[in-house]
Amino acid sequence: MGSLNAWELVAGARVGQTGLQVSTCSADTIGRVQARLDAGGLRQGIHHVYEHLKRNKALPDVQGLGVAVLDGHESHASYLRHCPGCLQRTLHLEAGDRIQFYHRQVTLMLLPGAPPGREAIRLLLDHEPQRVGEGEVETALRLLARVIPAYPRAFDLLLADALYGSASFFNFLLAHSKHARVLLKDERRDLYQDVAGLFDQVAPHPGRYRSRHCWWWDFSDLRSWAQVQAPVRVIRSLETYSVRRQLDQRDAPQTSDWIWATTLPATQVPTERAVGFGHQRWDIENYGFNELVNQWHSDHVFKHDSNAIECFLLVVFLAYNIFHAFLALHVKPAARKGKTQVFWARLIAAELYGELYKEVRPTRMPP
Ligand SMILES: [Zn+2]
Repeated sequence: MGSLNAWELVAGARVGQTGLQVSTCSADTIGRVQARLDAGGLRQGIHHVYEHLKRNKALPDVQGLGVAVLDGHESHASYLRHCPGCLQRTLHLEAGDRIQFYHRQVTLMLLPGAPPGREAIRLLLDHEPQRVGEGEVETALRLLARVIPAYPRAFDLLLADALYGSASFFNFLLAHSKHARVLLKDERRDLYQDVAGLFDQVAPHPGRYRSRHCWWWDFSDLRSWAQVQAPVRVIRSLETYSVRRQLDQRDAPQTSDWIWATTLPATQVPTERAVGFGHQRWDIENYGFNELVNQWHSDHVFKHDSNAIECFLLVVFLAYNIFHAFLALHVKPAARKGKTQVFWARLIAAELYGELYKEVRPTRMPP
């Protein structure tokens, strides 16, 4: 449901001519309860689901490697409502400066391989709210300091965007025996300048990523990023593909150029797999944030309170994980064929409404 008002409409629904009312708590109560929930307990709930799935071999490694991705996401913004946990920024508008308030979290998603004959289950493991005056990488390190001890063997490689190309991020992961892999964008960086020179001198080798023709460069043991406590490997993938134009239905050639920095050794992961991991960084956008916002209404603020926002999001993570585990493991692939995720969500909702109806249906009414 997109709002607590929608909930109240169900709560106030009178069934048929009987005048009987479905008994549910009010929207106010839900908001108040969210504000008092224990985030630690919800995190344990998510861990419990993870443990069950892991024990049942539903979260296999990807060719011997556990992979996860993290990214920041702004959950909502408002000019009017704010709380002590709000971050704020000044927007310079035509009508003058305005202060905008918002909340932002760093989320960690696990990207396991697919169990035999099933689809892979992506799990939302945890999130950490960004605090006032703090950078996103700092928030991420606090998240990892909690997640790594709780899930010591869940992942070996962590994917992140260019913002995480910081020595503190790389060194933190190295200290916990994990590998980092980030997009390398900063042209001012010594490492970037170092490899930019190599691209001109060294011929790339051809490769393929899905339907794309690629030229790959792969340089190991680079030591020009002195602040990182290990040699760094840089991989570049220059990809060409075609996109059909709407206007004249002709194929228009496109190119994309990716450069990644990682501590993952070439002996462990060859170029082709490493390029695939680079593209998987988008999974958290495509399968995580997009679905959370569009299908789970996660950007709606049900109660503007830091704890309520943190806990509500954790409840959504729990629901997302259980829903996807249910679809992947309990619905036979043949039964799923041709039906969207939304179909299954509505079927589950219909069953819940049916239960509410059963509760209020007087015995003299026909079933
Ligand atoms: Zn706030």
